[in-house]
Amino acid sequence: MHINAERLKASMDQINEIEVTEEGGMNRLALTDSDKQARDLLKKWMEEAGLEVRIDDMGTMYGRRPGTDPNALPVCLGSHMDTQPNGGKYDGLLGVMGPLEVIRSLNDNNVHTKHPIEVINWTNEEGARFEPPLLASGVVAGIFESDWVYGLKSPEGKTYLEELQRIGYQGDRNNRLKNAKALVEMHIEQGPVMEADNQGVGVVKGILGITWLEITIKGEADHAGPSPMSLRHDALMAASKAIVGIRERILRHGDPVVATVGRITTSTSTINIIPGTVTFTLDIRHKDSGALDDLETEVNEVLEQVCQEEGTSFKINRLWNNSPTHFDETVVNTIGEAAKSVGLPDYRIISGAGHDAKYIAEIIPAGMIFVRSMGGKSHCPEELSSWDDIALGTEVLYESVLRLVK
Ligand SMILES: [Zn+2]
Repeated sequence: MHINAERLKASMDQINEIEVTEEGGMNRLALTDSDKQARDLLKKWMEEAGLEVRIDDMGTMYGRRPGTDPNALPVCLGSHMDTQPNGGKYDGLLGVMGPLEVIRSLNDNNVHTKHPIEVINWTNEEGARFEPPLLASGVVAGIFESDWVYGLKSPEGKTYLEELQRIGYQGDRNNRLKNAKALVEMHIEQGPVMEADNQGVGVVKGILGITWLEITIKGEADHAGPSPMSLRHDALMAASKAIVGIRERILRHGDPVVATVGRITTSTSTINIIPGTVTFTLDIRHKDSGALDDLETEVNEVLEQVCQEEGTSFKINRLWNNSPTHFDETVVNTIGEAAKSVGLPDYRIISGAGHDAKYIAEIIPAGMIFVRSMGGKSHCPEELSSWDDIALGTEVLYESVLRLVK
């Protein structure tokens, strides 16, 4: 091993002592005092490791290790240090501390590289304090306007800009990441697939595309007593049949298509009224954007059939659509080779969750390394990854960097 797993663990432990909830969860919401404390430590450690630290206008931190060729593009490694309100010890943090450990190990081993290497801590990845998620990487990728992000408000009514300035992390727009040779984000899987496949480290091929639909079914509200079953236009019955029907269609496609009805509301929440209007949400994810559109067509077919049977009508409102990400082939293959050099299989996986690398992949060749999540849990105090897997994942990152800086 080139990397020092003990040192990595000590750094992660120190950040994870900053704000601990009663249940043992991490609480480092974006741009709070706890986030500032974590940032201050990272800044200190980056400087101690000889990195040139700069902050951009969204508060994203970059630590640059110069290369021997002043004109060479950097190889970037990063994730986020913010957490959910009662989050885990690894989500995000591993992808910042792992790269810092890679830098420290390169320093120990006296390795000089042609390309500079940058360690990045993106602001507000979680979207737990300022919605939506992935705000700072989204600004760098041109998805969001910085002024719009500045005006977003936390639940306490504080704007992103106010909080950014309050903690002293508003830097310069010129400091944003503009171009790079490659970007690699290391992250925990946050799901149960790697554990089921008995794999500790994964080479991430891409991220599932997401479509959010809001489906409204209109029937006729009526008295629950005098209305015979055969004459009803029950919107909730139609919705139930539609949800089951959609699930059957989704199951026919097999992995990795997933669909979830997370919210359902009826117009009347009364015991003795037949529901006249029902609205439910549908979250569908697939690795292929064409297939995602086909699934929407299938959802439409199911609804048409059910509504005809039940004498109801429906309306679909597309709330959000995010196309699938296919990571850069060269970067992905390089990570695969790095895994093999460490004695691991080139195990490929698709991410079901979004990450900063998703947006950055739109402007820079990007890839990701996954580390197994025990029990598949994340965004909760039970989130867990073994130190063996973390050490191996970080060693794969080290080997990936050595190949990418050539
Ligand atoms: Zn994360």
